[in-house]
Parts: sequence; structure tokens; C-alpha cells
Amino acid sequence: MTKSLSEFASRSPGPGRATRLTVDLAAVVHNYRVGQQATGPEVALWPVVKADGYGLGALPIAKALREAGAPGLCVALVEEAAALRGAGVTGPLILLSGLAGAAPGQLAGLDVQPFLYEPRGALDTLAGLPPGRGLSVHVKVDTGMGRLGLSPEAVPDFLEALDRLGDRIRPVGLVSHLACADEPARPETARQIEILETLLRHPRIAPRGLRVSMANSAGLLAHPGARGHWARPGIMLYGSSPFYPAADWRAAGLRPVVTWTSRVAQISEKPAGTPLGYGHTHTTVRPSRLAQVPVGYGDGYNRRLGNRAQVLAGGTRAPVVGRVCMDLITVDITHLPQVGVGDPITLLGRDGEEFISVEEMAGWLDTIPYEVTCALGRRVPRTYRTVGDS
Ligand SMILES: *Cc1c(COP(=O)(O)O)cnc(C)c1O
Repeated sequence: MTKSLSEFASRSPGPGRATRLTVDLAAVVHNYRVGQQATGPEVALWPVVKADGYGLGALPIAKALREAGAPGLCVALVEEAAALRGAGVTGPLILLSGLAGAAPGQLAGLDVQPFLYEPRGALDTLAGLPPGRGLSVHVKVDTGMGRLGLSPEAVPDFLEALDRLGDRIRPVGLVSHLACADEPARPETARQIEILETLLRHPRIAPRGLRVSMANSAGLLAHPGARGHWARPGIMLYGSSPFYPAADWRAAGLRPVVTWTSRVAQISEKPAGTPLGYGHTHTTVRPSRLAQVPVGYGDGYNRRLGNRAQVLAGGTRAPVVGRVCMDLITVDITHLPQVGVGDPITLLGRDGEEFISVEEMAGWLDTIPYEVTCALGRRVPRTYRTVGDS
């Protein structure tokens, strides 16, 4: 009888895939505390774990932050809220992207608090809730982001329309989002704060005692006037500075969260003048030692990193040469004669004295750290390090 593949695999478990991600939950919790220290205890920090925790794994991160005292969490979509609930995450969940097609029945069981910004759709959906539900909702105002939100003038009427839904809902908050908080010198942030404060003094709004939130990571770190009652840190929790490229994680006292490693699969020696890889985009200029490393754009190692990025081998930087393939990169290790097959290669994180941050990789790609972690491939196995792990 022929053996099935799974039988074969179970007989030779092996060490698992050479390419893996380690997410340091203790660092996430440290970064949360950095935020809390900046704001003081009177501002509640509700971590943002949308887009699967910026690509790093919403569930373990959500659990670690709830255990560390986070009063609630923010996600973008109702599907994300349902996934966290299904996995046992407790506490209220903010829906940053609002109702976004959610059915009233879906909302009722989840203990979610949507941001509302599109009056007609919101009123129609919320009218479908059972009386007495008391779903907490936050009204989103566009104070200058030019994106989601009601205009400030439309807010009083909308709040009164919400009142007419009776005890199905409770309008508990007024929220807005900052457009330029990551560049602290720009004047737009103060203007946005002023618009929200003016709205809060409006005679049809002031008596409501609404809870206010404007700040993302940059807002809560750099703009005390934007802190409100509660803030929504995202990127800083994941170990990158919201002020990149002006500043990096070190300046904010953050701890890096991601380590991405692989191992050398093959080493070859090539004479000078040897063209390498798809399209022959790199040709050796001297007799070269080349390492093949089993990671590629199929794992979220961006194809534009070819002939641009560096990795760490034996505590030293080494360039990625030629094109990035779906499953492989080639690294020039001519200057590292001690590196052999099976030795570790660090794509992100520390090796000895050297360190490659998410921010540095974002710089190679002319993008922001958010996109680097969001793009990390689901194919890469993840390990979560908790407080007690070494
Ligand atoms: C994603 C998001 C945040 C978090 O922003 P960071 O810059 O990652 O801190 C906060 N508020 C809203 C509305 C968001 O969409």
C-alpha cells in the first residue's frame, strides 16, 4: 500500500521550516506601557489590532494586551471582531471602519462599539437592533483628515437622530482622526484639535458628556492636546516609530517586536563575471561565495528588495544580489568565509551587534513600517515569545 503524504510527514517531523517569524509579546506589552507613561493614567489606551495585528497575529497580541490591562481593543472590521470573540478575547471592541455592511444580528452578540460616519446607512442598520440592546456607538467627525466622518456642522442633528432610536443604542463618544500627527511641527494637528474642541462646546453637544478620542500613536506621543479620554495606538505597539523616517524606535524608547530569520540552504562559489538569477540583474565582479536562502516574495519578502536589501549573517551585513524569487533570495557572502550551510540568516532583527529594523526595510522599499509587517506572508510560521521566555 502506498503511504499518504501526511503519514510520511508525521514520520519525519524535522525541525520545521527554516524561515520563521518570532513576535515578542513582552516587547508589545513594553511598548504599550511606553504609551501609557507618555499619556499618564487618565488617558485610556485601546490598542489597534486591525489587519491581523498589523500582520503579526491579532489573537496572541490581543490576549497579551488584555492581560496587560488594556480596557478594550480596536479592529477595522466586524469580521475581525468576530474572529477575536470566537477565540475567546474579552472586553469591548471598537469597529474603526464602522458598520461596513454588518447585519444588526451580527452586532448584537459581539459587544462591539462602531464608529458611525455615514448617517443614513447607520440609522437604517441600527434601527434593526432589538430595543434595550444599548449598543455603544461613537460619532466620527472629519476635523481635517478629509476621509471618513461627518462634517462638524452635521454632528448635532445626527446625534439627535440617534437619540430617536431609543435604547437600542447609546451614543457614547465623539471621535476624529489626525492627518499629520506624525510630523509634529505641522500646524494641521492643532487646527484639528481646535475644531473638535469647538464642537464639544456646542450647546447641543456639551451636555452629553461624550468621551473623546483623536490620537493614534503619533498623536498620543507628540500632541498632548489630542489625547482626549482615550487613544488608539497601533504602530508603536509593534515596535516602529510613528515618526519614521524623522526618528526610529530607539528615540521613542520602543522595543522591536519582530525577528525574521531563515537558514542558508546552499552555498556556491562562482567566478567573476557570472550572471545571477532571473533576468541576470546582477553579475559577480569578483570570485564570489553565494548563499541561497529559502525566503521570497511568497513569504512577503518584497521583490523590490532584490539588489537593494541587506541581511545579517554571522553578525555582519551581507547584500541581497539579483532578483528576489517567490521562494528564494541570493546573498553575497564572499566576505564571510565562516558562514556555512544551515547557518542562520536574519532578515529582520538582531544578530550580534547588527540590527535590521522594520523601519530600515521600509526605507529600502520607500514605504512605511506599517506596510512591511502587514505584508509578512501567512506562509511563514510564527512563534510568540511571552514574558517569561528567554
Ligand atoms: C489604524 C488606526 C489607528 C492606529 O494608528 P497608528 O498610526 O498605527 O497608531 C488609530 N485610529 C484609526 C482610526 C485607525 O484607523
